[in-house]
Amino acid sequence: MKVLVCLKQVPHSDARLDIRDDGAWIKDDGVKFEINSYDTYALEQALRVKDAGEAEVVVVSIGPDRVTQALRTALGMGADRAVHVNDPEAEGSDPLGVAKILAAVAAEESPDLILTGFMSEDGNFAAVPPMVARLQGIPSATAVVQCEISDSSVRVERELEGGAMEVVDLEMPCLIALQTGANQVRYASLKGIMQAKKKPVDAKTVADLGLAGQVGASAVKVVIEKIYRPDKGEGAEMLEGSTGEVVSQLVGKIKELGLL
Ligand SMILES: Cc1cc2nc3c(=O)[nH]c(=O)nc-3n(C[C@H](O)[C@H](O)[C@H](O)COP(=O)(O)OP(=O)(O)OC[C@H]3O[C@@H](n4cnc5c(N)ncnc54)[C@H](O)[C@@H]3O)c2cc1C
Repeated sequence: MKVLVCLKQVPHSDARLDIRDDGAWIKDDGVKFEINSYDTYALEQALRVKDAGEAEVVVVSIGPDRVTQALRTALGMGADRAVHVNDPEAEGSDPLGVAKILAAVAAEESPDLILTGFMSEDGNFAAVPPMVARLQGIPSATAVVQCEISDSSVRVERELEGGAMEVVDLEMPCLIALQTGANQVRYASLKGIMQAKKKPVDAKTVADLGLAGQVGASAVKVVIEKIYRPDKGEGAEMLEGSTGEVVSQLVGKIKELGLL
């Protein structure tokens, strides 16, 4: 079985983000990046397929040189091979552009299973995964919190509104977009990190994938006009400090309100 995992690098959750002068995106120089947390559950799911039997795990990511670090981490966790679409022509792609690139890689790899995160923590569109499935003409399920993967089909549990759950069966090839908390993500072992250095990372350009002029900032159909921080509302109190400090301040406030 071949499993293709789409993982995106996003600004680290603790990173301080400044908005670019044109207001259309964040300044990313000097910003620490990490693997999109939703995608770490997708990667873990793929590695469990591999632990359970014959499977090749291929990870793909679109982005600049810094993405190599995310791919090496995934290889260190146990993935076999990586595809890095590193091309300025891909930058600024809207969800359809990103989906076209991932679908073109999938067309070359013909995986039995594509695993993605439910959404990215920076763009939050939750649109790329179903678009990849549509472009590949395969079934998909999103907001998945549990997977039973057999040789030719997948049974998933999806989250619905109001806490209801849905059980869905899909024939392979198919795409599954995982919700956070779907499994317990492993850490890369020292041995794994050492072996990762020798594992292949295949660099691809937009032209290699036959998508010249169809993706990137010049081809967007969804234009991000501006991103901004809403003004602080009356009485809103911004909690400052590290994640741990903010959490304990918050618990203190909830207790003050007699809600705990
Ligand atoms: C400078 C700049 C300008 C931009 N301008 C625009 C714009 O005008 N319009 C616009 O729509 N978008 C723009 N974007 C891109 C936008 O931020 C999103 O990244 C893009 O639209 C995809 O949406 P999403 O990240 O919310 O993915 P979702 O739809 O939330 O999908 C998330 C899932 O898709 C997969 N995925 C997403 N991105 C990647 C990736 N790079 N590599 C591998 N897998 C991936 C992962 O599995 C992930 O869990 C811009 C980005 C930059 C850096």
